[in-house]
Amino acid sequence: MSADSSLSKETPNPAVDGSELIRFDNVTKRFGSNVVLDKLDFSVASGKHVTLIGPSGSGKTTILRLLMTLVKPDEGTIKVGGQYLTHEKRNGDLVPAGEKHIREVRKNIGMVFQQFNLFPNMKVLRNITEAPVTVLGLPKEEAEQRARELLEMVGLTEHIDKYPSQLSGGQQQRVAIARALAMRPQVLLLDEVTSALDPELVAGVLDLLRDIARSTDITMLCVTHEMNFARDISDQVLMFDSGRVIETGTPEKIFNDPENDRTREFLSAVL
Ligand code: ADP
Repeated sequence: MSADSSLSKETPNPAVDGSELIRFDNVTKRFGSNVVLDKLDFSVASGKHVTLIGPSGSGKTTILRLLMTLVKPDEGTIKVGGQYLTHEKRNGDLVPAGEKHIREVRKNIGMVFQQFNLFPNMKVLRNITEAPVTVLGLPKEEAEQRARELLEMVGLTEHIDKYPSQLSGGQQQRVAIARALAMRPQVLLLDEVTSALDPELVAGVLDLLRDIARSTDITMLCVTHEMNFARDISDQVLMFDSGRVIETGTPEKIFNDPENDRTREFLSAVL
């Protein structure tokens, strides 16, 4: 798809038909002199579940943060559903995007964070309805109906009137998953979502995510140290080292028969 047609008003809802949904072209991100992502190219097809693995500090979380526009690339472009994320075309030129354009493209993306990041001063129901009402403009009743369905799905119906501090870490993370899904995003970003949980709560959250991966057509981009989970849900695994993808393949290939020495070293340390 050309940049011009991808930015046209005729394509408000990017394709969900198995075509490319996320595309990084030549993306470089630096923090000071630290080159965190180095001319990165990769793409994710719609509906696929892609897991990013690799040593700590190799740039995995930065990719998710770029997609959420929490940080911006120094070079290169990112497209979501054929639309530029941090750029837009003006008079035929590609220029840094305005806030309105960024908000519009980002509506397609939901993220679940390691530390849950729920609104502490809002009860569970409002945590889930806030963005659909304020960002999508959904009527309150409709947003609440959707929130109730999602709370049932994540098994928290009876906690609807509680504040986050009254819930366990696992329950808070389930609310965060429901909150992300309430926006009906095309892409769900999962950033080490079980790292902050007590060990006994990890399996429940991973099982919920396995169910979501199986039963929805949502595209998932996932940073995790849970290699069994990565093996179960992934269509594709990307192995990172020093801001570059050094190996990519199916979970069978990467976990059973990796080709790169650094992939082998990494896996032997974590498996
Ligand atoms: P990973 O998720 O693979 O552990 P990250 O993407 O979190 O890696 O971080 C990659 C590198 O970028 C690390 O060296 C980290 O210290 C650095 N980094 C990440 N965010 C920032 C920031 N906001 N300011 C400065 N350095 C950062």
